[in-house]
Amino acid sequence: MVSETALFTLLYTVISLCVLVPPTEFISAGFTIQQLLGHFLGGEDVNFVEYHVKGTTLTMIAHSLLPLGYFFCFPLFVESFEEQKFWQEKFIWEAAVGISVVFPTVIIMIALYWAVEDWRHHPAVKVLAQYGQPWRVVAARIDMEFRRVDKFATGTGTMTRVIVTDSWIIKTTPYRLFIIQQSDASLTLTESSEHALSHVSNTGIQFLTIHVNSHRDHVPSFDIRVNSQEYNDLRDKLQAPLENARNVVVHRTLSDRFLEAFRAIVEQNSKYPVPPDIEIDSCLGCMQVPASVKLQKLCDDPLVGECQQCFCRPMWCLDCMGKWFASRQNQNRPETWLQSRCPCPSCRSLFCMVDVCLVE
Ligand SMILES: [Zn+2]
Ligand SMILES: [Zn+2]
Ligand SMILES: [Zn+2]
Repeated sequence: MVSETALFTLLYTVISLCVLVPPTEFISAGFTIQQLLGHFLGGEDVNFVEYHVKGTTLTMIAHSLLPLGYFFCFPLFVESFEEQKFWQEKFIWEAAVGISVVFPTVIIMIALYWAVEDWRHHPAVKVLAQYGQPWRVVAARIDMEFRRVDKFATGTGTMTRVIVTDSWIIKTTPYRLFIIQQSDASLTLTESSEHALSHVSNTGIQFLTIHVNSHRDHVPSFDIRVNSQEYNDLRDKLQAPLENARNVVVHRTLSDRFLEAFRAIVEQNSKYPVPPDIEIDSCLGCMQVPASVKLQKLCDDPLVGECQQCFCRPMWCLDCMGKWFASRQNQNRPETWLQSRCPCPSCRSLFCMVDVCLVE
């Protein structure tokens, strides 16, 4: 007799869970409350802060309506009149209907309180007001930094994202927007957890929990989680101090460890004195620093003897050459990398690590 009800309840629970904690596929396809209402919210790239201030509020309202939605849809899906009557006469049913009406009413009242006087009471806006008045001026500064391409961002495709811009540390969740200015933040690496298998890559993955604290009163602190591979990028973007109080060991990536070995070997090789007529340009790989290595066949290994003379002028920096070298190796056998060869990125002549010379 309860079968129709049970089926409907199961279906409604699954749909609700997809709304509350959407799977990655849903988020990527744009099926979250914020993304669905994106047009109304004004677009994250244009008005990052306003988008999240309104988005968190609307998400909260939408989620609070889910229980009421169940009772609203119940008579539409459960056609058996007896089943309807069986449930609707129970006291627990009436109590549940009552709660599902009161709950969103309270949430909507909170939302209205937040929205009046240009969102002055919204928790995130209150934080911004600590950094300057009116809050929209501070928001505009954050929006501008968010639009820059060189920000640190992680958590794309999940409900919790962390964004670090030149002067702000930001965490977005469905219901909250956390913001702390870098200049009055201090960060502490508090915890590490390991996952043997991540569904993204087949190597072990380490997650680090970092506590972000503000020196100002009325600016709530928060925790962020990054994986160890993103940790260096995050540190590059941070101006605030990051303390590792509990000496959490951060696992470095294979390429980090290889680059360190590569650098150590190359530093012991002979140097290449740059002839006066050769001009050193920026590294072709990163365009950030001047080229700093030249390939010269210096190894004498007549048995293997595969290395060839490269006639290219110095065009790469040491790190980019190391990354290039690593990328051309058998990724499953890193123990062979130091003894292997690699083609020059420009002329393809083979070289080994002894042939990499720093310019001077
Ligand atoms: Zn480079
Ligand atoms: Zn070459
Ligand atoms: Zn060689």
